[in-house]
Formats: sequence, C-alpha cells, structure tokens
Amino acid sequence: MATATQETVPNAKTNLVPIHPRVEEFLRSPKRLLIGGKWVDAASGKTFATVNPATEETLARVAEADAEDVDRAVRAARAAFSSGPWARMAPAERGKLLWKLADRVEEHLEELAQLETLDNGKPLAVARAADLPLAIDLFRYMAGWATKIEGNTIPLGLAQPESFLAYTVREPVGVVGQIIPWNFPLLMAAWKLGPALACGCTVVLKPAEQTPLSALRLGELIQEVGFPDGVVNILPGFGETAGAALAAHPDVDKVAFTGSTEVGKLIVRAAAGNLKKVTLELGGKSPNIIFADADLEEAAAGAAMAIFFNHGQCCCAGSRLFVEAPVAEELTERIAKEAEKIRLGPGMALDTEMGPLVSREQYDRVRGYIRIGAEEGARARSAPLQGLERGYFVPPTLFTDVRPEMRIVREEIFGPVVCASSFRTEEEIPAAANDSIYGLAAGIWTRDIRKAHRLAGRLRAGTVWINCYNVFDAALPFGGYKQSGWGREMGHAVLENYTELKSVCVRI
Ligand code: NAP
Ligand code: MG
Repeated sequence: MATATQETVPNAKTNLVPIHPRVEEFLRSPKRLLIGGKWVDAASGKTFATVNPATEETLARVAEADAEDVDRAVRAARAAFSSGPWARMAPAERGKLLWKLADRVEEHLEELAQLETLDNGKPLAVARAADLPLAIDLFRYMAGWATKIEGNTIPLGLAQPESFLAYTVREPVGVVGQIIPWNFPLLMAAWKLGPALACGCTVVLKPAEQTPLSALRLGELIQEVGFPDGVVNILPGFGETAGAALAAHPDVDKVAFTGSTEVGKLIVRAAAGNLKKVTLELGGKSPNIIFADADLEEAAAGAAMAIFFNHGQCCCAGSRLFVEAPVAEELTERIAKEAEKIRLGPGMALDTEMGPLVSREQYDRVRGYIRIGAEEGARARSAPLQGLERGYFVPPTLFTDVRPEMRIVREEIFGPVVCASSFRTEEEIPAAANDSIYGLAAGIWTRDIRKAHRLAGRLRAGTVWINCYNVFDAALPFGGYKQSGWGREMGHAVLENYTELKSVCVRI
C-alpha cells in the first residue's frame, strides 16, 4: 500500500491538520460539470451545497445536473465511443492512460484524502491509508487488463471440424451510466471507472449528492493525463433527477449502480425502457460468526472493526453478530470495550478513529434505528458522546437481547450499530445467518479449518472472510447474492460487466 506523500503537522491548539493549499484552491474554484472534455455550468444554472459533516457548514457549491445535462453528457460519451481517438485507441494505450491516472492520483494523495475527509467525514488517517491506496491499486490492476481482454476459438460439435472456424471476441458494451454512493466516494468512482475504461467503454458518472468533490477533482486529473474528450463525463446532481435520467436514458447501453436495494429496484425499472444492461452492488446485513475455539482477542477486535470501520457505513458491515454460547458473554463484553475505546472526533484530527456520519439524514436515520431497537426490547450499550457539540456524531452501539424478527436485525442500518446474539451448535448457523433478504458478505472466526470451509460453503454470500474481515483487493471479486445485487466488481469477473461477447463463425 502507498503511504501519504505529504505528512502535515496538526495545529497545536485545534489538533486539526491544516487544509492543504491545493484543497483550499479547489474549494474556492467553481465546481462545474465535466461534459465532452469541458467544465460547464448546469443547463438550468442551478447549484447545490455540499456540507462538511463534522462542522455542518457548507464546504462548496456545486453545479447541479439534471435531465438536460445527462442528455448532453450521453451525446458526448456516444460521440467519443463511436468516433475519435478513443474508438481507435490500441488497448495498450488505454492501459497506459489508466496507469498514468494511478500515478497522478498517487501524486495528489494528500489533497484527495483531505477532500474525502472534509466532504464525507471519515478520518484522514483512513482516507490516506485505505480509500486512496485502494483506488490507486484498482486503476493499476485494471490498466493491466486493458491488453488481456480476449476471446476463444471454439471447436464446433456438429459441423465438419475442418469446414468452420469459430471464435469469440469481447467488445466494449458502449456508453455506460455509473451511479455511486457517498461512503467511499473516490474508491467507488475507481471501482466503476477502472474496468469500464480498461474495456474501452465511455462513461457518464454521477457521484452522490453528499460527496461530489473528490470525483470532480478526479475529473480534472483524468483530463490532465490525456483521456480524450467525452470518454469520462462527470455529473454531480440528485438521484431523483440526474440519476433517474441516466438510468432511463435510451442511448445508454449499460448502467452500473452502487447504493441502496430500494434505489437498485428503481434502476432496474428505469433501465427496462431500452433493456440496457444492469449491474447492482446493493445493501447487506452481513452475519459475523464467532466460535468458542477462535482466538478471542483477535475475533473481538475483528468483529468491532467489521461493524465500526467507516462508522458502519459499509455495504458489507458485519452487523449481525453470532457468538457461540460458552463465550458469548465474554465476547460481547470485549467488543463493548473495543467500542468504548474508539475515539470520535473530526476527521481532520489525526487521532480520530471515527468521524461523523455523512449527513443529517443518515444521522437521523441511524439514531432512529437505535430508538427502534430499544422500543423493540433490545438492550443497547454505547459510550456517551463527549465534547462534540456540532457534527453528525453517533457513538458505536452494541445491541444484545435481540430476536430475529426485530427491525434492527432485519434492516440495513448503515451506521455503527451491531446486533449480537448467541448460538449453541454449528448446525443452527446456516439457517440463522442466511435468514436475510441480503447476501453480500459474512465472517467466520474459528481455529477449526474444516468447520470454517464447511460453513463457508453453506453461507449464501458473495464474500466470506475467515479469521479476517473487510479485506479488499482489486484482484478479488466483490458483489452480492440475493437482494445484495447483480454482478461482481473487481477481479477479472468485472470485465464481464463492461463487455459484450460476439461469436464469429466462418465457413472455410
Ligand atoms: P441511495 O439513495 O441508494 O444513493 C446511491 C446513489 O443513487 C446516489 O448517487 C443517489 O443520488 C442515487 N440515486 C438515488 N435515487 C435515485 C434514483 N431514483 N435513480 C437513480 N439514482 C438514484 O442511498 P442513500 O440515500 O445515499 O443512502 C440510503 C441507504 O442506502 C443507506 O442508509 C444504506 O442503507 C444504503 N446504502 C448502501 C450503499 C452500498 O454501498 N451498498 C451505499 C450507500 C447507501 P443522490 O445521492 O444524489 O440521491
Ligand atoms: Mg459532504
């Protein structure tokens, strides 16, 4: 993993890292839409505010795209796809551009990490050590794939073998609409853009309204490294307007979405008009299962990280904890202690371990669930917030005495809230763990290698982590079973999302 290119010394009085001069400059400059290689105002002239969730203050105003801008951007993306330098570019050149972009993002690591922290609220230390390095790795990994998108030769079974040559080729799917969430703004942009560009597609990307800034700065870097005009178009705006128009647009060939299952279903409906291809990376309510034979110290720390990393704002958060009865009390006690130790504060303070939630809306939503849990009869443990008068801070919360039918157990909370229950036998686990509309991820903690693999095979989840959690790698596919989504991100599996397979059959 790369490290921050510039360490900045926190202010002695406030303990906050001073804002990088290029971040200051970026925040002051106009933030427009990127369409056809130009930065332009929204056709409506409208702008919206993006807020720093640690201070509740407006960070910047950003051009607000709607249907008319989506249409302009789709036309630019279509033109870049069908003619011009991108359409003729050799795969190796596409790969080089992606590699250059990775280098460029790395050069600007500190600046982008700060933008992420200011806009999203996450600790700067996390943005520097996780979001940015993972995004950079993803671009490099995908740069390598640009030259390795191949077909096969197929021996035909029915015809005379010598009279036909049959082969397949993989071609880019075309103009792609990409709609991303606010929890890992730049990393989600990388997950989406990297494979689409490696495959030769052109893109219209809509970042989340809560966190548009890092995608806009990335757009500047994309232009600087020399991607041809119109290959990447970036449209900040709202889901109900810009997002919906993109999902429904008749000249978009494919839409890739990450966000809530509820909106995922709207995307599927909107896409039906022209039957555009759809991939979805949606919510989760992932089980994390701890056996009595696990390394309990490691499991307790791992279970706390599984739910509290990124303030629980992870689609794969380990939000349903199952602990084997003999150690249930000890384990929940340890996790509660881990939770109490987590230092809450503004992301720009380097000793902060958990920042504010992303928005007032999420703050109200998560606190609402904590209330619902108490009303349903579960027992909540959380440390009181200290010295945080402003900002959308919610303390890590552990629920015990939960029952499977409770809303806090069934619904995705997307905050630092975990529901713990105990179990007696391995045999109970598959039914209990799979008792969810979701199937994104799962964790297993045990020293028994047979039990671990046996159970991994019975969990209906796209990723199973054993004696670890939240391990991501550009090479490792990620995505959901059931209502957690369609298709996979990352690995070579993602290339299927962005290519069409053509069969060519020649009579010889
Ligand atoms: P969301 O509404 O699903 O937002 C995700 C993206 O979809 C955003 O870019 C959003 O734009 C856009 N969008 C919203 N409505 C749309 C529509 N009708 N058509 C097209 N695009 C649309 O998620 P959220 O409201 O930010 O968060 C709500 C809940 O979603 C969370 O509490 C959590 O449960 C879940 N969530 C899951 C993930 C994940 O990674 N699986 C990520 C984020 C949230 P705007 O932001 O401009 O509305
Ligand atoms: Mg913001």
